[in-house]
Amino acid sequence: MIQLSIPLNFIGTLYREISTGLIDMEAMFKLLDEPAEVIDAPDAAQLLVSDGAIAFKDVHFSYDPDRQILKGVTFEVPAGKTVAVVGPSGAGKSTLSRLLYRFYDVTSGSIEIDGQDVRSVTQASLRKVIGMVPQDTVLFNDTIAYNIGYGQFGASREQVEEAAESAQIAGFIATLPKGYETEVGERGLKLSGGEKQRVAIARTLLKAPPILILDEATSALDTHTEREIQASLDDVSKNRTTLVIAHRLSTVVGADEILVLKDGVVAERGKHADLMALRGLYHAMWERQRAADAARETLAKVAAEV
Ligand code: ADP
Ligand code: MG
Repeated sequence: MIQLSIPLNFIGTLYREISTGLIDMEAMFKLLDEPAEVIDAPDAAQLLVSDGAIAFKDVHFSYDPDRQILKGVTFEVPAGKTVAVVGPSGAGKSTLSRLLYRFYDVTSGSIEIDGQDVRSVTQASLRKVIGMVPQDTVLFNDTIAYNIGYGQFGASREQVEEAAESAQIAGFIATLPKGYETEVGERGLKLSGGEKQRVAIARTLLKAPPILILDEATSALDTHTEREIQASLDDVSKNRTTLVIAHRLSTVVGADEILVLKDGVVAERGKHADLMALRGLYHAMWERQRAADAARETLAKVAAEV
């Protein structure tokens, strides 16, 4: 009887996760409908990447003037290092990634890559060096092969297949009558959230850019697939500057620094052990996630018995 309350609790967590996903998807579509707000400066230069160090300097941002989302965020991702951002949903985590990719411009403060303000360089040169796995991938209306190869001109079919293999999507593609030539996107085959996420991961593994942004990159995957892909992602992020927004805390234990973002400010920062010792927000999130994992296991066991 005691165990019954745990699965119910877990269903609550699951429901929240699902509804957050839907809200984010809505935001993404809204974003696509909007005309491009960001334009290159007339004298925009090419971004020159030497090591790919990222610096957020007192970044403030709001989508609407009457509601501030980021309220002075400062941090660095040193070249080749991994910084993780965690925190409650709505804290502004994905906003950080959108600003770095320059879907929007900061309201004040600045974001620099190797000392160059992202507003002073062309968007094309910026996006060439960044590989982003967004929270919700929107595919191009083209073939799966095109969607994986995008961003890496001249990629051979062999390389595309290799990336698909690492992203655990090759098996699925093999089941399609037209395989890699299957049209996907709005007018083609509709892929599930997890399948789209794996296409985006394959694209990023193939592009292997100097800077990586992983925004809850495996959140739509089941635990088993997530674990397998995580190894490929860890591999590609090795020695590359990586900003990882994590949904599962266990994936960021090894990060060089972890930021806990809450209500648009960095509430806690440090390595995993420091944050656990602090017994604050991070510690509480960790404990909650552990309870949810235990509940998931219990639920699976109960389901197996009936
Ligand atoms: P997180 O990734 O931490 O869950 P986000 O960065 O996606 O949070 O969002 C932070 C806040 O900004 C949320 O309150 C969200 O509703 C709001 N927001 C996100 N995108 C938009 C948008 N395009 N227009 C207006 N508000 C937005
Ligand atoms: Mg987000």
